[in-house]
This record gives sequence, structure tokens and C-alpha cells, in this order.
Amino acid sequence: MKYWKKYSKEKLIKRIDKALESTIDFQNSKYLGYPVSRLDENVFNTSGTFLNNSPLLKSFIANPNNIGCHTLGKSEEAFKGSQELEKEVIRVLAVDIFKAKENEYDGYIATGGTEANIQALWIYRNLYKKEFDATLDEMVILSSEDTHYSVHKGSNLLSIDTVSIPVDFNLREIIAPELDNIVKKLISEGKKYFMVISNMATTMFGSVDNPDIYAEILSKYKVKFKIHIDGAFGGFIYPISNRNSTLNFENPNISSITIDAHKMLQAPYGTGVFLCRKGLIENVLTKEAQYVDGMDLTIVGSRSGANAIAVWMILFSYGYYGWFEKINTLLLRTDWFAKQLDALNIEYFRDPFMNIVTIKSEYVPEKLAHKYGLVPDTHSGKNSWYKVIMMDHVEIDDLLKFVEELTNISIS
Ligand SMILES: *Cc1c(COP(=O)(O)O)cnc(C)c1O
Repeated sequence: MKYWKKYSKEKLIKRIDKALESTIDFQNSKYLGYPVSRLDENVFNTSGTFLNNSPLLKSFIANPNNIGCHTLGKSEEAFKGSQELEKEVIRVLAVDIFKAKENEYDGYIATGGTEANIQALWIYRNLYKKEFDATLDEMVILSSEDTHYSVHKGSNLLSIDTVSIPVDFNLREIIAPELDNIVKKLISEGKKYFMVISNMATTMFGSVDNPDIYAEILSKYKVKFKIHIDGAFGGFIYPISNRNSTLNFENPNISSITIDAHKMLQAPYGTGVFLCRKGLIENVLTKEAQYVDGMDLTIVGSRSGANAIAVWMILFSYGYYGWFEKINTLLLRTDWFAKQLDALNIEYFRDPFMNIVTIKSEYVPEKLAHKYGLVPDTHSGKNSWYKVIMMDHVEIDDLLKFVEELTNISIS
């Protein structure tokens, strides 16, 4: 890990204080033309000694705006400090976790996985339009049936058809012959330009798609394609737990990646990350964004610099090894839980590198599922699965109570 280090608390606070100093001081500044401000001190408690050890609260009060994308071109001068910290976050993710070459990536902290997924689709739509004069009818989005619904939102917004690829019921793996048939049929219907959303851990199962299956079949039919990895849930787990993962920028088939910081990383809501190879994000340049200094390349306009600082703080409080240990603790709990289910002959799905266990619903009475807050695969109609996620707050002692109740059921 070249950039992902662990900093002391003092160092974290010092860097954040410095970053906030270089954010314009709205109190004493001459920035007459900026429609911006720190938080309203008539409403919020914005001073006091409680702030000394709370760099994040200080950041929210200073209220920097990280509008724009800071890995290329110019950026708004007024908020350099928090932009610099965002750039460090993007660099750790792109280079250290997802193996991009130095300066060969772009990215920004989006509002969440939904925005980051739609940003990718938007980029590829415009790329196909620009390079091939493609029409919307000639484009199509492919993803597995377990894919997050944000892809359907993107399909609707961008007016591009989306097709779900069936997965094996037990393995949750894309069925390659089905994919082949679907692609063949789509081509016969006039589709020429493909956008793939490949999952690095689905929301319900933690299942991980193999993007090379898409690449192989689409290459065979000689159609244009781009592959985006949706790591909204798995992005801070899978690349750490599976050292042989090829879901990164060393894989030439992969062009862009979504990661959420407000799931596993426990950052405040409003912190998803979009990463892509250099030369792609320019496809969504909004030339009319004249009043903002720098290029406008993001779906969202103004966005919270404090949120970027929060992600920076989390990454550099743990460092790579600290995070590695945390993930391994969660995986140990998951192993333990899976073993208990094995002993009870309860069927479930689990990817060995993920902290999700999804149990077939016939083994869990509805009342028990409700009592322990398990999440069903559907809230309308009969569900087939219930998932358990080993997060920070889900300890073995909590799991044990659930397992004991399951045991009592299997005995009686
Ligand atoms: C949560 C999730 C999303 C959407 O993320 P938001 O941050 O809620 O917008 C997208 N994909 C996957 C796999 C997710 O788990």
C-alpha cells in the first residue's frame, strides 16, 4: 500500500484544521460573489470547546463545497483544502485498492452508489453517441437479475433499455449460455452498443459476478461494450479479503467502479465513490456550467466537502492494516455463523470472501425473521430468502441467540 497509511489522531486533526483554513473564511472574507456560507450560527451551536476534538463537526460548520471533479483540470479556489483531502481518498481507492496506474484515473465522491452507477451509464451513453453516432435504440444495459435497482433508475433516466441476465438459483452466478442467447437475440434486434453493470457483491446475496464472462461473450459477437463494476456494497471488503481478485483496473475489461463509503465504511450518508479510467469522464462535460471554475463532470452539482473529509478521516484512522483486521473480524463471525447453519442442515448462499449469509426462507419462520430484523429478498409476495449481514454491530453473541432459536425449531 503506497498511500493508505494510518495517521495518529493528532496528525488527522492537524491536517483537517489546515484544510479548513484554506477553505474561505466566510466570516472575514472578501468573497462577495459566492452564494455560500458556513452553517447558520443563529440556529446551530457553532462554537465551543467541544469542537476541539471533533474535526468532523468543525468541517460541517465550515461547510466547504466540493463541487466538481478534482482529479483533472482546475477546481474552485475557495475550497482547496477539502478538495485536496478528497483527492487523497480517490488516490488510495484507485491506486492502492483498485490497482490503477498513477494519474491514469478520475473520480469523485458522489452522493451514493445510485449516482455513481448512473454516472457510469451516462458516460458510456455519451461515449457511444460521440464515437459511433449511436442512437438510444442501438444501446442496451446488461446486468444480472440480482443487480441493484439503481441500474433500472439509470435505464429510465437515460432512456436506454436494460436486460436482466438470469442467475443460477443456488449459486447466484450468471448463467453463461443464457447470456449468450440473450446477446445473440439483442444483436438480431439491432443492439450494437452494450453497457454492463457487473456486481462486486450484490445487495441481497453478496454474490460476485465474473465480468470476464460478459467480456468473452460480447467479444465473440464483436460488439462494442464497456464494463462497470458495482462495488457499492463490496468495494471495501472484497478487494481486501480476496487478494487474487481481478476486479480492478489491471483487468483491461473494466472501465469504471462504484464504491459506497456510507455502507461498510460507516461514513455519513451521501458518500459514494465513482472511479474510472482516464479519458472517459469528459464525455459528460456540461459546457454550460460557466460560473463554476473548472469543468463540470458530475451528475450532482454542489456537494459536501465535510463528507469527503469524513471518508478521509476513516481511511487514515485505520490505515490498510487496521481495515484488514476489521474486515477479517467480520469474516470470522461470518464463518462461525455459516458453520452453525451447516450443523443445522440449513441451506444458504455465501461468497467466501463476503460477510453476507442469505438463508433460504423455508428454514426461518417469519416471526423469527422479524424478531431478528432479517431482510427478505422481496417485500411484496412470498420471499425466497432472508439475509444476515455481519456488520460492526452484529456480534457473535447476537448471532448466538438467533442460532439457538433456530436450533430449538429444528429439534421440535
Ligand atoms: C446500496 C447499493 C447501491 C445503491 O447505493 P446508494 O448508496 O443507496 O445509492 C447500488 N448497488 C449496490 C450493490 C448496493 O448495495
